[in-house]
Amino acid sequence: MRDALDLELASLTKRYGAAAAVDAVSHVFASGRYCCLLGPSGCGKSTTLRMIAGHETATSGDIVLGADNITHAPPAARGTAMMFQSYALFPHLSVWENVAFSLKMKGVEKNERRRRAMTLLEMVEIAPMAERRPAQLSGGQQQRVALARALITEPRVLLLDEPLSALDPFLRVRMRVELKRLQRELGVTFIHVTHGQDEAMALSDDIIVMNGGRIEQSGSPREVFDAPRTEFVARFMGGHNVLANGAGKIAVRADRTRLSRSGEGALSATVTGAEFQGTVVIVAMRAADGAELSATLSDAAFYADPFDPGATVTVGWDHADQHALAG
Ligand code: ADP
Repeated sequence: MRDALDLELASLTKRYGAAAAVDAVSHVFASGRYCCLLGPSGCGKSTTLRMIAGHETATSGDIVLGADNITHAPPAARGTAMMFQSYALFPHLSVWENVAFSLKMKGVEKNERRRRAMTLLEMVEIAPMAERRPAQLSGGQQQRVALARALITEPRVLLLDEPLSALDPFLRVRMRVELKRLQRELGVTFIHVTHGQDEAMALSDDIIVMNGGRIEQSGSPREVFDAPRTEFVARFMGGHNVLANGAGKIAVRADRTRLSRSGEGALSATVTGAEFQGTVVIVAMRAADGAELSATLSDAAFYADPFDPGATVTVGWDHADQHALAG
């Protein structure tokens, strides 16, 4: 059963000439959840988002928000709002005027516009800068303004296109926490486009993995990470070894992969390198058939008896930790 404010895509398709950028995508975004569209560059994430926003026409299929078929509705009449990657703030307007701009277009009077803009600026913790111009703000602050500007229209669904990609890594993690907090407070559905699996795992209630214009898998971060359906998902999410196993392929998490210097194990490999990552060390290996493998070991275990490049190791895992892949 669809909830009253769920957003449903039904066989949504976008063709550019003969090529399908989005190929018959069907999915229900449950209302009030943080959803990430995740996939490599060119897989159709932004095109999907732009069709939901109404900035791109659908070639075929439907977009239904609650009881309304919004496939052909103008952007401002959809109940969605978009926060862009480039913040696109008006340079000659103050911060609060930028946030209140859409209310001005609707003829809302000035005191009311300011009051509503200030409420949102407080929510994104930038109210003291309300009188500044965008050029007097840092990138992270401009982004908060852009967020407030998108939220002032009281959308049922907020669309975010790579909102964190312009920020430095430290700020990106901070802003990620803020986005998640805001989404929880507002209860609005967020659909966030990213090519970063870390970002998607940190933020999402639901991850939708796309590949070649189609949805490859969707589910909670744990479902997608613990049980990748296909080789593509296992490799894209990372942290897995993909191995040929008779008829098909299997995935084994790198942190469930064991190494020993000799003895019984599923296969033998040569160590090609070890990467120190603080709490863990990732040991890279090449199997006899050329497959690249990795094992994530605790730093204590690794440094107690380090594996040097060139060492021959036996790779093993518990049968319960191997997972059959489709396709
Ligand atoms: P993503 O957001 O996942 O990087 P896009 O949705 O931007 O991917 O693009 C999906 C595919 O559609 C890509 O192959 C891209 O080259 C193509 N595409 C996107 N926009 C256009 C356009 N305006 N004209 C032609 N092809 C386009």
